[in-house]
Amino acid sequence: MVQPYKHEPFTDFSVEKEREGYLQALNTVEGYLGQDYDLVIGGERISTEDKIISINPANKEEIIGRVSKANKELAEKAMQAAVKAFQSWRKAKPEMRADVLFKAAAIIRRRKHEFSALLTKEAGKPWREADADTAEAIDFLEYYARQMLRIKDGVPVNSRPNEYNRYNYIPLGVGVIISPWNFPLAIMAGTTVAAIVSGNTVLLKPASTTPVVAAKFVEVMEEAGLPAGVLNFVPGSGAEVGDYLVDHKDTRFISFTGSRDVGLRIYERASKLNEGQIWLKRVIAEMGGKDTIVVDKEADLELAAQSIVASAFGFSGQKCSACSRAVVVEDVYDQVLNRVVELTNALTQGNPVDQNNYMGPVIDQAAFDKIMSYIEIGKEEGRLMAGGEGDSSTGFFIKPTVFADLDPEARLMKEEIFGPVVAFAKAKDFDEAIDIANNTEYGLTGAVITTNREHIQKAREDFHVGNLYFNRGCTGAIVGYQPFGGFNMSGTDSKAGGPDYLLLHMQAKTTSEMY
Ligand code: GLU
Repeated sequence: MVQPYKHEPFTDFSVEKEREGYLQALNTVEGYLGQDYDLVIGGERISTEDKIISINPANKEEIIGRVSKANKELAEKAMQAAVKAFQSWRKAKPEMRADVLFKAAAIIRRRKHEFSALLTKEAGKPWREADADTAEAIDFLEYYARQMLRIKDGVPVNSRPNEYNRYNYIPLGVGVIISPWNFPLAIMAGTTVAAIVSGNTVLLKPASTTPVVAAKFVEVMEEAGLPAGVLNFVPGSGAEVGDYLVDHKDTRFISFTGSRDVGLRIYERASKLNEGQIWLKRVIAEMGGKDTIVVDKEADLELAAQSIVASAFGFSGQKCSACSRAVVVEDVYDQVLNRVVELTNALTQGNPVDQNNYMGPVIDQAAFDKIMSYIEIGKEEGRLMAGGEGDSSTGFFIKPTVFADLDPEARLMKEEIFGPVVAFAKAKDFDEAIDIANNTEYGLTGAVITTNREHIQKAREDFHVGNLYFNRGCTGAIVGYQPFGGFNMSGTDSKAGGPDYLLLHMQAKTTSEMY
C-alpha cells in the first residue's frame, strides 16, 4: 500500500554528517561543471552548435554547463514526438504513471545534497534554500503521484435503473511547460510531473539561467522508466521556441511560472486560434506578487521583525511569495522598523557555497540592473534605512535593503522588484493596514502578525491573497499542506501542491451505458 503523504523534512545542517555531505556534494558538482547537455526529443539526444551557457551568479567566471538550444525546427520535431507519445501515454495505467514519479522521488532523495549543491552553484541558492527547493521537488513527485491514484477512477455520479453513468478524468494532450529559475528544481519538476502523471506528454522549456538542473532532472525521469517522447527537453529562447510552441496548433495547454509580463503575453497568444487548431488552449499561469506582511499593534513584535526579514531576504527576495512590503500600524511602526534594520544589518552575504552566508547573489545582470534601478527609485520615494548598494564585479550581489515611509501609492509599494528590497508603510489602524495591503494588482501571499482574534477574522475575510498566513512569514508554502497560488495578476488561481491541481491538466468525460 502507498504510505500516506508526508512532506520531505529539511536537512539539519548543525549535524556534522549533513554538513560534510553537502560539502562533498559541492565537490561532486564541481566535478561535472562545464559539461555539455543535449536536447531530448522522443528519447533521442540531440546536440546543437548553439548553446545556452549557464553561469554561476556568485562567480560569473564559472560555467555550470553548456546546454543545447532548440530552434523552431527542433521544437517542431519535439512537438511531433510529444503528439505521437500521447497516443500511448494517455492509455498508460495511472498506477504505472505514478510509479515513475515515486521512483524519481526516490532517486532524487538519494542524491538530495547533490541536487541542492547544484542549485547553490547554478542559481546561487544558500544551503538552506537549496535544500528546501530539492525537498519541494520530492514533495511534488510524492504528492502528485498520490493525487493521481486518488482521482484515477473519477467521481461517482447518479444512474437510473438500467443505466450506468460514469464520470472520469482524461488527459488533455500535449502541454508546454515553461518553468522559472527561482525554483529551478521544485517548480520545474512540479509543473512537469503534474502534467505527465495526469497522462499528458510535454515539452519542457526551462529558464535559460538554470537549464543544467533541468537536464539532470530529465535524466532522473528517464532512469525512473518514463517512456521516450513523454518528456521532451527543449531549452531555448522565449521569443523563438517559447512563442512557437505557445502558438502551435497541437499545443493543448501551457503551464507557465514566471513574470507577469511573460504570463500576459502567453495568455494573449494562447487565446488566438491558429490554422488547424480544434480546441481552446488552457493556460495555467503562476505570475508575480507584491506580498505584504501586516503588523498589528497587538502583536509579538520580535516575531514580526524576524518574519519580515526572513520573508524579504530569503534567496535574496527572489520568490514571488517574498515580502516586499511591510505595513505596520503606527503605534508600533518605529519599533518594528528599527528591529528589522538591526536584523538586516546583521545578515551575512557572499558566495553561497559557504554555509555561513545567509544571502547569495541575484540571478543575473538584468536582474541586478533592474533591482538597482528600483533602489534608486526607492531613494526618491522613501527613506533608505539599510543596504542600498550592489556590486556586480564577481557576482551579482545586492545588499539587503530596507526603505521606510513609503506612500501606499509609491512605485516601490506597487511594482514587483523580485530582489532583496522591502518597503515600509505606516497605517493608522488595522483596517487601513488591510486596505493598503490590498492596494495592488497582485494577490499571491500575505501575512498578518497579530494577537487580536477579531483582526485575524477580518483578515481571513478581507485580505485578498491566495496564501494568507498568520503569525509567521509569507514564504515557504509546503506541498500538500499549503497549496500555493494567487489571485488577480498573480495568475490563474491554480494551486500548486493542492488537491485539485492535477485536474487543471485534465478534462472530464461522462459516459452513459444502457443495459
Ligand atoms: N512556493 C514558494 C513559497 O511559498 C514560492 C514560489 C515562487 O516564488 O514561485 O515561498
